[in-house]
Amino acid sequence: MYKKPPRVRNGAVTQVTSPTRILIVGGGHVGLYTALRLQQRLRADEAEVTLVDPKSYMTYQPLLAEAAAGAVDPRHVIVPLRRVLPRAQVVHGRLSGLDHAARRATVTVPRPSPDCRRGT
Ligand SMILES: Cc1cc2nc3c(=O)[nH]c(=O)nc-3n(C[C@H](O)[C@H](O)[C@H](O)COP(=O)(O)OP(=O)(O)OC[C@H]3O[C@@H](n4cnc5c(N)ncnc54)[C@H](O)[C@@H]3O)c2cc1C
Repeated sequence: MYKKPPRVRNGAVTQVTSPTRILIVGGGHVGLYTALRLQQRLRADEAEVTLVDPKSYMTYQPLLAEAAAGAVDPRHVIVPLRRVLPRAQVVHGRLSGLDHAARRATVTVPRPSPDCRRGT
């Protein structure tokens, strides 16, 4: 569990309360825009935003037909999550369990594909 060290100012030690932790499940259209708005509106010390998705990018689905037809470059239909969310922690994995009472989320990290392990 993340805990901030105490702050020492003019010899006085004050315990810094941990910021609110926000978990966003899914980095699709709703998850990405939620994270972007929180990133814009919250100060860095106000909350820690974590987004979890098995994919490292968001696909802008309304433009898929144009990408398939060659009218739009496929690169312009995807949004790399880490690049656009520098202040959020992006976790590459799938939410496999959520215990609201214990405030605990379980994330299953995907295994690397065989091609990945060979370095191809
Ligand atoms: C071809 C196409 C064209 C469309 N055109 C339009 C349009 O013109 N106008 C319009 O308003 N809408 C359109 N839509 C619909 C629009 O894209 C969806 O309504 C929108 O993407 C829904 O957003 P979402 O965040 O709920 O889901 P998604 O964008 O599908 O995102 C869900 C995310 O959750 C992740 N996820 C799933 N399970 C887990 C898990 N267990 N743990 C972590 N992450 C998980 C997925 O990987 C995904 O990234 C279109 C859809 C399609 C397919």
